[in-house]
Amino acid sequence: MTTKIVFIGLGNMGLPMAQNLARAGHAVTGFDLMPASVRQFVDAGGLSSEDQAAALGEADIVVTMLPASRHVQGAYLGASLGDTGILAHAKAGALLIDCSTIAPEVSREVAAAATAKGLRMIDAPVSGGTAGAAAGTLTFMVGGDEADLASARPFLEQMGKNIFHAGPGGSGQTVKICNNMLLGILMIGTSEAIRLGVANGLDPKVVSDVMAKSSGRNWTLEVYNPCPGVLDNVPAARGYTGGFGVDLMLKDLGLAVESAGASGASVPLGELARQLYDMHSKAGAGGLDFSSIYKLDTPA
Ligand code: NAD
Repeated sequence: MTTKIVFIGLGNMGLPMAQNLARAGHAVTGFDLMPASVRQFVDAGGLSSEDQAAALGEADIVVTMLPASRHVQGAYLGASLGDTGILAHAKAGALLIDCSTIAPEVSREVAAAATAKGLRMIDAPVSGGTAGAAAGTLTFMVGGDEADLASARPFLEQMGKNIFHAGPGGSGQTVKICNNMLLGILMIGTSEAIRLGVANGLDPKVVSDVMAKSSGRNWTLEVYNPCPGVLDNVPAARGYTGGFGVDLMLKDLGLAVESAGASGASVPLGELARQLYDMHSKAGAGGLDFSSIYKLDTPA
């Protein structure tokens, strides 16, 4: 029997993820506020519908891949708390999978509302970038009941390679926030190291190749290098378009700093990274990929 899936949020990540589910043979109906994204999904073999409530009423699984907490609250709870959102229309027993990166407490709030309506929900934020989404090699960090993860696993496996159960609801988000705080710090550090080499007359490719075989090696250097001309097929090679937006990284660093404040963890570098991404966003780079921090000019 074909599994009916509704996929909401066909952006840089959601579109390739939804395409992988459609390619696996499921009946996937995609929704996005941008009609062009829905058209792209349909051109790639997905389904569309004018009636989101009706599609939700038939779906066995609903996947969301939205920018931030407020979008997830809006999509699930609806503007009038329950009248218009996913929870109001999903059929009893449906499995809801939120892959967006949002605040753990919002994740728990939405999951509790879902449970109260007889629905099952897990948080399953991802890592691996747009290339990982396209290749179906994402890492999923899941929070929620073991049994719900077991139901979701075959579908997550069609979009990703590594699936971790982090703990109860919201835990996936907590791990994801830790990861992205480290990612932001590493991207800034890698950018600074390459800039220093270039300012001293070195070829950025040579600097990168040497560090990739030395103790400074890391993902932002080897897989997602921020300096144009070092790697092909990364945002730096196409004017920092596509990829993972500066404003999304800024959101995640904000979540990390907020979570650190609430839990008493010391994260001075996380706070500094947040300030630098804030400065970069305010300078007009909010819509560029986060590796564009390489171009941030700070006072010496
Ligand atoms: P994006 O901005 O490219 O896509 C988000 C999409 O959601 C947009 O197309 C937008 O139109 C749509 N949208 C917003 N509200 C909607 C609604 N109510 N109904 C339907 N569609 C709606 O963002 P992205 O890069 O795909 O990221 C999505 C999430 O994944 C974010 O939480 C981000 O932090 C996380 N993430 C991104 C990456 C990455 O590399 N881009 C990697 C890991 C995690």
